[in-house]
Amino acid sequence: MAESVFDVVVIGAGPTGLACAIDAQNAGLRVVLVDKGCLCNSLFHYPAHMTFFTTPELLEIGNMPFSSPNQKPTRSEALEYYRKVAEHYRLDVRQYHRVDGVSGSDGDFRVHVTDRFGRKSDLSARKLIVSTGYYDLPNYLDVPGEDLSKVHHYYNEPHPFFGLEVLVVGGKNSAAIAALDLWRHGAKVTLVHRGPQMHRHVKYWILPDIQNRIKNGEIRAHFNSTVQSIREDEVTLQTPEGTLTVPNDFVFALTGYHPDFGFIERMGVTLDPDNGRCPMVNPETLESNVRGIYLAGVIVAGERTNEIFIENGRFHGALIARDLSAKIPAGMAA
Ligand SMILES: Cc1cc2nc3c(=O)[nH]c(=O)nc-3n(C[C@H](O)[C@H](O)[C@H](O)COP(=O)(O)OP(=O)(O)OC[C@H]3O[C@@H](n4cnc5c(N)ncnc54)[C@H](O)[C@@H]3O)c2cc1C
Repeated sequence: MAESVFDVVVIGAGPTGLACAIDAQNAGLRVVLVDKGCLCNSLFHYPAHMTFFTTPELLEIGNMPFSSPNQKPTRSEALEYYRKVAEHYRLDVRQYHRVDGVSGSDGDFRVHVTDRFGRKSDLSARKLIVSTGYYDLPNYLDVPGEDLSKVHHYYNEPHPFFGLEVLVVGGKNSAAIAALDLWRHGAKVTLVHRGPQMHRHVKYWILPDIQNRIKNGEIRAHFNSTVQSIREDEVTLQTPEGTLTVPNDFVFALTGYHPDFGFIERMGVTLDPDNGRCPMVNPETLESNVRGIYLAGVIVAGERTNEIFIENGRFHGALIARDLSAKIPAGMAA
């Protein structure tokens, strides 16, 4: 049974979902957000002491100022800011409710939801906005031993790894930041990357730091190398010099993440195989090939997860709200 009828259900309460909800609400529509985790669940799961790459004003949504004493805000400042925004706009956010799927059609969608105790319910909506991000599904290495409990695909903080042999896999920002943080807090760090050097997208203030630690031998690095297998006490690497087995206590495989393409396709949205699996959307409205279903945030760029950030995804809400206003005139809103 549907508990209530909304003009819009927003699936995913990340920065983009919040921006979309605010814009739709400002257009006079009745909106609810649903998230399988907490508010801004992806940001919550970033490294505990991370600093954003972006200055605060570029993370702002809903015309609310984000003031920070720091040139680049921290994760906890961002979480505080988005909590305040949600509070200010009195957003209706159903946290810890995972959307399993969607049925129905434009004007009469059913959103099938399961809460953290396994209880199922439905929400009814005229229109849907999907802003589910990309941070839930890691790109796996697909090597033997990856399922051992010592292998992590998310980095949180360094303390539990003091004095231990840690392998960091990857060559971009996340790998560089984790390797440096672990090393600075007493872990013995080895970095392995399939490319010939750290990736060119590593931020200009992080790159010399990691390069110098590698040059000084403080972090051991293997480039043009891959992980062949992982066992309880060691890992085997494939390097240009041949196979190398090194002692190991923990592995951080920080090789990126990808959107839940299956979830999007099950709604009937077509992914373009010739364009990085970008969902088919009208670029002016972000309505997909399924009438009434809009896509927003990082998922609009498909596999190219480095194209849309908070900085630019936050403007998707305005495009969608304009189209929604035209299609659900204020007098007809729920
Ligand atoms: C370490 C790190 C640092 C970054 N730094 C920056 C930066 O400095 N500046 C910047 O602009 N960007 C940065 N990014 C990228 C940025 O965080 C993402 O682009 C941004 O979070 C995307 O926003 P979103 O709202 O589209 O998705 P998300 O923030 O990922 O939100 C998606 C939400 O959908 C929810 N969800 C997913 N599936 C379901 C489901 N089935 N049912 C219900 N809910 C669901 C998730 O729980 C999540 O809360 C960084 C990313 C990382 C990993």
